[in-house]
Amino acid sequence: MTDETTHFGFRTVPLGAKQGEVDAVFRSVARRYDLMNDLMSGGLHRVWKSALVTALRPPRTRPFRHLDVAGGTGDVAFRVLDAGGPATEVTVLDINGSMLQVGRERARPEHRGRIGFVEANAESLPFGERAYDGYTIAFGIRNVPRIAAALGEAHRVLRPGGRFLCLEFSRVDVPGIDALYEAYSFQAIPRLGQAVTGDAESYRYLVESIRRFPTPAAFARMIEEAGFRRVTHRPLTMGVVTIHSGWKI
Ligand code: SAM
Repeated sequence: MTDETTHFGFRTVPLGAKQGEVDAVFRSVARRYDLMNDLMSGGLHRVWKSALVTALRPPRTRPFRHLDVAGGTGDVAFRVLDAGGPATEVTVLDINGSMLQVGRERARPEHRGRIGFVEANAESLPFGERAYDGYTIAFGIRNVPRIAAALGEAHRVLRPGGRFLCLEFSRVDVPGIDALYEAYSFQAIPRLGQAVTGDAESYRYLVESIRRFPTPAAFARMIEEAGFRRVTHRPLTMGVVTIHSGWKI
């Protein structure tokens, strides 16, 4: 890989071509995206997203402005609103209008007025410096072509004292189970994708992109390089996913 290329799953593609391919994946699966998450993870994605929001701990008694990047169909944003107080406001940002449209339709009446949907790129956020108290990105960062740019933007838009949290797939770290998980990922998930969305290729990309993503330790270094401090990471479910945390000091 050179500066001008990156990965799209197991393929090497020009850096400028990846976003278009990623967008095609999420346009294709948007309407069945939430159902597939439940089926693929046996509902565990709900537990992981709740753990992310528990780590964020939005305050119940004071205003809190939160940005959920690559927020897709709104799962994390809805949880932040449910956990926070009445003065919690969430912006869901995603590059894909199809995913955001599903999110708008899923928002419950009690969320209205406290949630906004913005179509934009994580690599260049359309917000001023220090605009947000919290930033989350769940299962999104590995899809972004220029990860360092997205992390730099996260740091820019957070106020000092603001919290960065990222939920991303990692690698199963239990001998024996790792081989089972590998077989499940590469054999079962594309077939399930074909059956439910008619699109096996998109789910092959999702599985391959997980393998291509940096290790948790390497990604933690990238978070530090973006300027965050007190950077930590915590594996969940035998390392299937990891929650990364950092603070803007
Ligand atoms: N966060 C949601 C969740 O956990 O259910 C959605 C995750 S989905 C696997 C990945 C999302 O990242 C998609 O909605 C996709 O459109 C979005 N995405 C990909 N590249 C992006 C970029 N450069 N900027 C913003 N969003 C992006």
